Amino acid sequence: MKRDRSEELFQKAIRLIPGGVNSPVRAFRAVGGTPRFIREAKGALITDVDGRSYIDYVCSWGPMILGHADGETVEALRSAIERGTSYGAPTELEVLIAEEIIDAVPSIEMVRMVNSGTEAVMAAIRLARGVTGRNKIVKFEGCYHGHVDSLLVRAGSGVATLGLPDSPGVPAHLARDTITVPFNDPEALKRAFAEHRDIAAVIVEPVVGNMGCVLPRPGYLDLMRELTRRNGALLIFDEVMTGFRLARGGAQELYGVTPDLTTLGKIIGGGLPVGAYGGSRDIMQYVAPSGPVYQAGTLSGNPLAMTAGLVTLRRLRDPDVYRRLDLAGARLCAGLMEAAREAGVEVTINRAGSMWTVFFTAGPVEDWASAAKSDRGRFARFFHAMLDEGVYLPPSQFEAAFISLAHDDAVLDKTVEAARRAFARAIR
Ligand code: PLP
Repeated sequence: MKRDRSEELFQKAIRLIPGGVNSPVRAFRAVGGTPRFIREAKGALITDVDGRSYIDYVCSWGPMILGHADGETVEALRSAIERGTSYGAPTELEVLIAEEIIDAVPSIEMVRMVNSGTEAVMAAIRLARGVTGRNKIVKFEGCYHGHVDSLLVRAGSGVATLGLPDSPGVPAHLARDTITVPFNDPEALKRAFAEHRDIAAVIVEPVVGNMGCVLPRPGYLDLMRELTRRNGALLIFDEVMTGFRLARGGAQELYGVTPDLTTLGKIIGGGLPVGAYGGSRDIMQYVAPSGPVYQAGTLSGNPLAMTAGLVTLRRLRDPDVYRRLDLAGARLCAGLMEAAREAGVEVTINRAGSMWTVFFTAGPVEDWASAAKSDRGRFARFFHAMLDEGVYLPPSQFEAAFISLAHDDAVLDKTVEAARRAFARAIR
């Protein structure tokens, strides 16, 4: 039998790259089978090296909100590349993107660009510790904040998918400074503050994407704000996923809760490697060279990344964009719910705008413990059935899926049709 090209490449890749991939969850470990090697993408579709196209709900794990190979972005990049790819000196583009972010995100008066979400979180944590003179960080079980040493404790995303509660290589003394509490549990958070006097910051995905999509209960983010303020700790919203995704101003705009620091990534780079962190002028003035908290980057503010990011952020100024994304999310998830009901599969679908997850459990799913009750065997069968139908979902139960502006009604309805058959296969 002729082996397909993805299989050939994967066999080669696993000899050359750990697990054959450059980021763990791409490896299909949770669902089995061979990851598809992608050749190209356009709009809502990605095409693998064997020429098979899929409706894409990974969207590069969030950044591709305009759809793949967006015409305006490609043109802007083409023109930017002619002017050089990196200078290591300031550019006008960096000023423009800073203006755009500050205008959009309520908590941000000053912003620093970095190269990934992980870097943004790492820097925000250092800054919170530098400003408060304290060390302890509160995080929530099942939240993922990048592969930052001190936050790889009971983390979500690939860490949860692979069943690694803690990572070897993280020094015990660092892990000791991380206090983990269950998400959506007000009493646990109050207890953490009652038991620890030296909390520098609480970091949270205000709408969680990394245990699958999980929304905060009413008032929960307000409680975080109140407790941090009362106890002299900073509140960090990790909006790497939710920033410019749920609303132009992110989850903080949607929920009306203003954190001290915000981390961003994904969408702000328009598909190129970018992260950013920002907050009030008072706090950001601590960052070098204004202040003593050191943070730097050879490629930070890279002109290509800033170009793609600016095109994206300018397009997201139109408030109708978020109404359309929300309608698309509602249409898709209502269709999926109906398809699951017809097939007799018990599922819980959580959704925030264009971010969603189908959990194979009766639910509700409100924290890591309830997310973990999902039937992962069913999820894996559903995932592969959808892949056979030409729909590419995140290859793990504990990830959010994303809709882009290129996912029109025809694409969404085709997805629901595929799901009718895939749900039936999931329970066999
Ligand atoms: N924070 C959140 C909420 C994320 O979802 C991610 C990545 O998925 C990160 C941080 C890390 O970002 P990056 O993968 O760009 O380092």
